[in-house]
Amino acid sequence: MAEGQIAAVAGDDMVGHLDLFQNLRHLRILPRGRTPQIDLSLARMIPMAPPDATQALKPRPISHRNAPEKTVSQSPPPAPPGASLPAAAISAQGLVKVYRGRLGEKRALNGIDLDIPRGSMFGLLGPNGAGKSTFINILAGLVNKTAGTVRVWDRDIDRDPRGARAAIGVVPQELNIDPFFTPHELLELHAGLYGVPKRERRTAEILTAVGLADKANAYARTLSGGMRRRLLVAKAMVHNPPVLVLDEPTAGVDVELRQQLWAYVRELNRSGVTVILTTHYLEEAEELCDRIAIINKGQLVACDTTPNLISRLDRKDLRITVSEPLETVPEILAAFGASWDPVEKALHFSYRPSEQPIQRLLAAVQAAGLSVTDLSTREADLEDLFLEMTRGN
Ligand code: ADP
Ligand code: MG
Repeated sequence: MAEGQIAAVAGDDMVGHLDLFQNLRHLRILPRGRTPQIDLSLARMIPMAPPDATQALKPRPISHRNAPEKTVSQSPPPAPPGASLPAAAISAQGLVKVYRGRLGEKRALNGIDLDIPRGSMFGLLGPNGAGKSTFINILAGLVNKTAGTVRVWDRDIDRDPRGARAAIGVVPQELNIDPFFTPHELLELHAGLYGVPKRERRTAEILTAVGLADKANAYARTLSGGMRRRLLVAKAMVHNPPVLVLDEPTAGVDVELRQQLWAYVRELNRSGVTVILTTHYLEEAEELCDRIAIINKGQLVACDTTPNLISRLDRKDLRITVSEPLETVPEILAAFGASWDPVEKALHFSYRPSEQPIQRLLAAVQAAGLSVTDLSTREADLEDLFLEMTRGN
């Protein structure tokens, strides 16, 4: 994370929340009756009320786990284990978005086909302006698509927009919190918008889970950047959606809070919630996600499991420092694609380990009559893949 971003959240009083936020298991051992227990397996989802609705909609059951569910009072019994659960939490076909404004047209998504498996921890990766936010805002019903079809939890966003919206919780990129609401009021308001009956609300539990219990009645404007981010996660979870989307969730969040946020998100994922996060922190996606899609200029350039994506790259860098002064790369080494770095006095090779064993490169250096004084290699990582896939951006 950039230094500036760390500084941006300086003053966040995180210490008091650390253990609460870090592990939800902590919550489950609280005595009943005092703080209600968080039940992440609670598998019930409530359709979003239309903006003009004065009456809350009746809750509808939903399951997002393979294991047998607990039944929720007042709700019909859940589906049998594994039954009627969609294979894909999100399914997009031919998704196109063209923004039209006074300045002309901007094609933000150019035919995206993407399935996000249920239960996955999915990374949507791409440079700024790639179309990541546009994609997830379409899923969330916040941006209208131009063409294509999208299903959220098997609900078509055109035919069943309310059902689709109820299945997803989005933590937006911007910290758009009304400064005059307290966290408690905000979550209650949001639960109301989703039609969650009062007795089924979990405001206190959720605030505890995100480490904001002691800020429940503080005005949002007094919260630090990190706290606001966590409040947005809480807000996205009030209706207990089976799909949680986080758009650049660690922008402006310091390293320690990031770890807490991930601990919470991982816990949600383990409980069956499909998590989608967009990021341009490549290490973050590599560390957290089991599947990664790379998007560039509105197009999907890669989508695979994280290990596959990395092995697909099959590239290593080799730097060799030699004692001889070189003017140019000897012919025998040029054949291996070597380049010469006059500043570091090093030869540089980029090679595919599966095709080119390192011994062959070293033998060629020797054959060129050079003596090696130092040698280092670097594994391919997601950064390389990202650069490779988005080259020409
Ligand atoms: P990302 O989240 O990957 O950074 P976005 O989805 O925000 O990308 O933006 C994709 C492209 O669409 C960018 O070129 C951006 O400038 C443009 N864009 C986003 N929102 C709008 C909008 N409301 N009106 C016009 N252009 C937009
Ligand atoms: Mg964005």
